[in-house]
Amino acid sequence: MSRRIFGVETEYGITCAPPPGRGAAVGTDDPDTAALSADDAARYLFRKVVAWGRSSNVFLRNGARLYLDVGSHPEYATAECDDVHQLVVNDRAGERILDGMTEEANELLAEDGVPGTIHLFKNNVDSAGNSFGCHENYLVRRRRDFQATAETLVPFFVTRQILTGAGHVRPRPGGGASYAFSQRADQMWDALSSATTRSRPIINTRDEPLADQDKYRRMHVIVGDSSVAETTTMLKVGMTDLVLGMLEDGARVRDLDLAEPMRAIREISRDMTATTPVELADGRRVSALDVQTEFLTRVTGWLDSTGRRGELTDVQRRVLDLWERGLQALRAQDPTSVQTELDWAIKARLLERYREKHTLGLDDPRVARLSLAYHDISSTRGLARTLAARGLMARLTTDEEVDAAVTAPPPTTRARLRGAFVAEAQDRRRDITVDWVHLKINDAAQSTVVLKDPFSPVDERVEELMAALRA
Ligand code: ATP
Ligand code: MG
Ligand code: MG
Repeated sequence: MSRRIFGVETEYGITCAPPPGRGAAVGTDDPDTAALSADDAARYLFRKVVAWGRSSNVFLRNGARLYLDVGSHPEYATAECDDVHQLVVNDRAGERILDGMTEEANELLAEDGVPGTIHLFKNNVDSAGNSFGCHENYLVRRRRDFQATAETLVPFFVTRQILTGAGHVRPRPGGGASYAFSQRADQMWDALSSATTRSRPIINTRDEPLADQDKYRRMHVIVGDSSVAETTTMLKVGMTDLVLGMLEDGARVRDLDLAEPMRAIREISRDMTATTPVELADGRRVSALDVQTEFLTRVTGWLDSTGRRGELTDVQRRVLDLWERGLQALRAQDPTSVQTELDWAIKARLLERYREKHTLGLDDPRVARLSLAYHDISSTRGLARTLAARGLMARLTTDEEVDAAVTAPPPTTRARLRGAFVAEAQDRRRDITVDWVHLKINDAAQSTVVLKDPFSPVDERVEELMAALRA
């Protein structure tokens, strides 16, 4: 199985909630009751970063990028990973870094006498209806049929939400609420496009490979929900990697193209049975469950017919197992077997138990707050840690692995070079400019190194650059 580079970008929701009793209960993200605007809260969050990095757009020692874009959503883009487990660890490291920044910002707020607490949410929509994203990036070999590959992936991504959706308490226009698979589905407007902000496509087809232009392209996937459970992140990225592998190997899957993808994505999100048919381009009617079953069948068929099954890593085997079990659970209309692994099922159980205990409707504000707390990344205020400790949310990583990835880059990719360079410059207080492909010492002539191969963790030119930093 050929190696692939992955990276996940997560935009976080931010709010500065007032203390309890001041107009709102803790845990809302309602801008009307917030103690500070999201903009001001984000400024507190980044104050220390700006102090050392002189910018709110920095690369870290672990090779990741941390930045504040327009719209005041803090974003963490993991370094390049070449293994799904490594990616899950790095994504978690991002949460830990932002949680630490939140704690520090809350101390600054207290010092300044601002009565409020900043919360960061790993979700995709705020109470005002604004949406923010979680992008997945997959390196693919450059071939003439990129557009065809992207088109093939549309039905895969439209239906993937029945397994990897984060679960969404969706207010109904006339009142009340219903539970849906995905937060993002209602926010997507286009199947494919090269613009992200104007049109919000499933796949962004802008040609920006962040690697050797002649060899590679980057599949930039905009459609996914942010995942809280590590096993959901694993499945989301792992199943997509396998489908991409099959397509790169020459498989053609054009018989599952949808007649109206953007209509289908919304209908599928709202149909928790996953069995209501949508129309295919050829006029057949099939359910999301059918489409996902078909993709899994073809992937396993490809693995068996090419002898690749024997090459699968442990995490890839786990991906296939969870993919299969997720579909079985939907077929049986019984989520019990995946209710500690898939976000939508974990959250559904959490909300159901709470509603039964307190006899509440799904549209009750207390349910909305609990639902939001599911996405709160705080190790003290968020629910993920408690759920994991009680055996209600599976883990894939260990705390030790995640702690290590806060400062150490993935050792097997280009990120290792970037991380080492950033660390050296920070320790020596040297001015550098870094992006995914470039490393530069600012005050030295002829000192830019271009790293076109994201798979390569070693490079003599970087050794020389490091020596120049030490000089
Ligand atoms: P935007 O925020 O506008 O979507 P972007 O997607 O171009 O910007 P970043 O936010 O900087 O860029 O994130 C890039 C992501 O792509 C990171 O997670 C990074 O690890 C990953 N990445 C970097 N190089 C490659 C590559 N060659 N192939 C696939 N992924 C890559
Ligand atoms: Mg980004
Ligand atoms: Mg992006």
